[in-house]
Amino acid sequence: MSGAIYLDNNATTAVAPEVKEAMEPFWTEFYGNPSSIHTFGGQVARHVDTARQQVAELLGCHPTEVLFTSCGTESDNAAIRSALPVSPHRKKIVTTRVEHPAVLNTCRTLERPAPIGFDMRVVELPVDQYGELSLPDIGNALDEDVAVVSIMWANNETGVVFPVERIADMCRDRGILFHTDAVQAVGKVPIDLSNCAVDMLSLSGHKLHAPKGVGALYVRHGCRFQPFLIGGHQERNRRAGTEAVPMIVALGKACELARRRLDDEQTRVRALRDKLEKALLASCPDAKLNGHPDHRLPNTANISFEYIEGESILLMLDEHGICASSGSACTTGSLEPSHVMRAMGIPYTAAHGSIRFSLSVYNSNAEIDKVIEVLPPIIRRLREISPFGREAAKT
Ligand code: PLP
Repeated sequence: MSGAIYLDNNATTAVAPEVKEAMEPFWTEFYGNPSSIHTFGGQVARHVDTARQQVAELLGCHPTEVLFTSCGTESDNAAIRSALPVSPHRKKIVTTRVEHPAVLNTCRTLERPAPIGFDMRVVELPVDQYGELSLPDIGNALDEDVAVVSIMWANNETGVVFPVERIADMCRDRGILFHTDAVQAVGKVPIDLSNCAVDMLSLSGHKLHAPKGVGALYVRHGCRFQPFLIGGHQERNRRAGTEAVPMIVALGKACELARRRLDDEQTRVRALRDKLEKALLASCPDAKLNGHPDHRLPNTANISFEYIEGESILLMLDEHGICASSGSACTTGSLEPSHVMRAMGIPYTAAHGSIRFSLSVYNSNAEIDKVIEVLPPIIRRLREISPFGREAAKT
């Protein structure tokens, strides 16, 4: 699309040309306020309804169960905060150690006393070396003190998919609200909310070829919900603020495309990802897959190249116009492995050299061939100049 070989689609995606075209008229031509009484506003409201329908069709829910937000982070905040306080006795939130900060930091803030938090106690469930949760651990955590459980559908760093439908059933059996952050899952794996016990689900437009700045929250009919943004009566009193119509139309179109392209994600994108992964693991010594080999999104491969820095690999890939991301976050000058890598117990030498490749339907076979050609010599070169790499080569 831009000349770059873009393998960083879990960070953000290109806006699909069909999406750009669909939203265009809503900047200058159909700019009415969907809440207005006049026909000019009314026709805009109909397009918002269509978008809601398109999102609902992708999720397998009723359109009135979908509310539009500004991003995945807002959806996560709104969902978790809405569940509180249930009762003075239900003081626990159950989540996992590998959630996105949009969930983890929201939960941690809710541990603080009023007026910032609700004095909650947060249980962050551990994962194993494959990034998987233990269902018995979840069962043990779900006692009568729990107000809400928030567990992601798929992990942004490793692509590991959690058994969210089974967890939702466990919560329903115990009368506990269940929210899932499905920001990375929507459009990549089939989701049918008509057939599962999820109460709330977050999604984000810019992860599925809509623009940045729009998201949605599914709230099951009958689920307790208190608005996060207070003001006007938009979104049936559940999210105040004049609707960002061009963005909402874009999200609707992106969901319609995602529904049609789900097979492509499951087959062609998966095949490209598998080809890349297999070739790199075969041609680079001391390379290991992070995450579960099977229970994973079809587009994500997270590979550790031991004894070298992920940032150096990224910079050298960048010289070839290849975009990926690393499992370390550069904070205060030191390269700390991400909380996900730490939760999985990945050794420092491997976590530092972890690279996430995340593909999309716009990637081609030729692009993958190029990465397979370019990356192994980069790894060899970096190992030669790495003191750890030279030591490891001697042993
Ligand atoms: N949840 C997950 C799993 C994500 O990967 C992200 C973004 O990376 C978010 C939430 C936040 O979404 P947004 O960028 O739309 O706020």
